[in-house]
Parts: sequence; structure tokens; C-alpha cells
Amino acid sequence: MLLAASLVAAPLERFEAVEPHMGTLVRITLYAPDSDSARKGFAAAFERIRALDETLSDYKATSELSRLRAGAPIPVSEDLFRLLSAAQDLARETRGAFDITLGAAIRLWREARRAHRLPAEEERRLALQHCGYRYLKLDPRRRAVQILQPGLQLDPGGIAKGFAASEALTVLRARGLPRSLVAVSGDLAIGDAPPDRAGWRVQVDRPLLLHNCAVSTSGDTEQYVEIGGVRYSHIIDPKTGLGLTTRIRVTVLARDGATADGLATALSVLTPSEGRKVALRHHARVWYSASRSLRVAGAGGASAFDTIRERQPDGGAITSISHP
Ligand code: ADP
Ligand code: MG
Repeated sequence: MLLAASLVAAPLERFEAVEPHMGTLVRITLYAPDSDSARKGFAAAFERIRALDETLSDYKATSELSRLRAGAPIPVSEDLFRLLSAAQDLARETRGAFDITLGAAIRLWREARRAHRLPAEEERRLALQHCGYRYLKLDPRRRAVQILQPGLQLDPGGIAKGFAASEALTVLRARGLPRSLVAVSGDLAIGDAPPDRAGWRVQVDRPLLLHNCAVSTSGDTEQYVEIGGVRYSHIIDPKTGLGLTTRIRVTVLARDGATADGLATALSVLTPSEGRKVALRHHARVWYSASRSLRVAGAGGASAFDTIRERQPDGGAITSISHP
């Protein structure tokens, strides 16, 4: 049966590539029929992330995001509008625990971390006056953005990496490479399962086999700073403008990267019971860990995913998750 033989797809091979983007390392793992299609896939996915960073970075003065100013509504690119829409949805749902307009306070906090001393009371108060998601208006009809508070600065650091990971995955999918995983630092966008496997193995509190979802972790212990014997996070409490002092790490499994990344940051600020409510709305699963050992603190909305528990040969419980 020559015809049947020629229809059998070539076996897929595993490829991996790493590039620096968005101030961190991006690792892409994918399955492709040959090295040529893998190489083209990597190039297109990394290029998508580079272009997104060009648009969304608050570190680049020339980015579209950095150039937004208070005043009349400004029409923006689709990428920027989608990122800001996701951020504003989260801000409303978390009553500002996640807030992309915290730029002024975050910059002040960054200086404080560098100098190893708390910001002056007056400076902190002033910075907070230039923050607040209610000062940011989005008009979907005109795809326009309006900033109502002069001096307000956007900081996409809590959501952009997850957003970019999902976007890169979308590019790979469109190129016929759906069996891919994009990791922008700790923000993972996970595509179809590898060949002959139930999912990508991701270590949370235990190894999970995952596909078609995103996983983000916040509260990176390396990003802490100690001032006067107190450990502060790089995630700030929007009420005080100071870094969080709770030593908690949050891992979120959600449908897409922006949601997982943004929720992980937001849930670091919220109490676990507040956080669980928000997670539930997104059918997200949440793990809190005080230190190294992760505890399952909530399985909110797991039913929205088709959750199959099975036993691995090594005895570890595996959850394979797929979307309805
Ligand atoms: P990481 O960057 O380590 O992956 P996160 O996704 O939690 O961790 O993002 C932390 C970054 O988000 C901070 O460096 C800052 O840029 C921004 N940020 C800090 N606090 C908040 C907050 N309350 N809401 C939204 N963004 C925040
Ligand atoms: Mg985040």
C-alpha cells in the first residue's frame, strides 16, 4: 500500500532553543518533523516575542506603551490593547490588587530596593497619587486608550511575560507546530501534548502532565530584598506602595498566559480566600507555598478542565488537563 505509506506522517523529533528576551531567558521546546521546520518555528516565535517586547516594554522609552501620555484618547495597536484589556479586567476583579498603572510606585520601590532603604513617606504618597487603574480608560470600539492622570506610568511586569509566552505559542500553532511549550522565565504556555504522551511534565507540588494551558509562578524568592531585618518582595501592595512582606509563592494554572501570569501576581497580594474567588472565575487552579514545599490550597474550577487522574508507573499522581 504505497499510498497509505506515503500518508503516514514522519515521526516527530524534539527540539529546544533558548534566547534572551524581555530581560530574561525564553526557552522553547517543540516537536517537529525535521530540523528545518523547527528552526523556522523558533525564528518566528522568538521574533514574535521580540516584537511584543518592542511594543510593550516599560524599560524602552520608545515602546508604544512608554509613549502613552495623559490627555485625549490615543488609538493603539491590537497587541497593546489586548494586553491592557486583560490587565484592566484583572484590576477590576481584584479591586486593584493587580494594577498595571502602578508604574510610579514600582519605580520608587525599585530605587528603594537598590538603595536598601524604604522610600520617604512624602515620595511614597506622591507616587501613589500617580497610580490607579481607574485613571486608565479603554475604548474597544476605537481601540483607544486614555490616561486621565498626568504622571501615570504603566508597568506590565506582572502580566507581559505570560502574555508573550501564549502569543509565541499561537505563532507555533499557526505554523503547524502545536506540540510546543514556551517558557518565558517562570511563565509557561503549553500547547498540545508531545507525541504518545498525555502531556508536558511540569513540576508543581508534584509532577503534572499538562497540555493546552498556562502555568505561572509569582513570589520568586530570589527577588526579595531585606531592609531593616524585614524581607520585601518585588510585588507591591497597591495600598501602601511597598513590597509585600508575606513570604508566599503562588503558582497558577489557567487557560492562557496573561491570565496565569496576572493571577499569580494578583493572588500574591490578595488573601487566599479572596484569591480563590478570583481564580474560580477564570477556572484556574492555584497552589500556595510558604517555602519550598508546595501545598494544594485550592482546586477551583478544575471541573472546567477535563481532569483525569491516573497513576504513573513510579506511583506519582498525575493530572492531565485538557479543555472542553
Ligand atoms: P516575575 O516578574 O518575577 O515573574 P510577577 O509576574 O509577579 O513576577 O511580576 C512582578 C512584577 O510585576 C514586578 O516586578 C512589577 O513590575 C509588577 N508588579 C509589582 N506589583 C504589582 C501589582 N500589585 N500589580 C501589578 N503588577 C505589579
Ligand atoms: Mg505575574
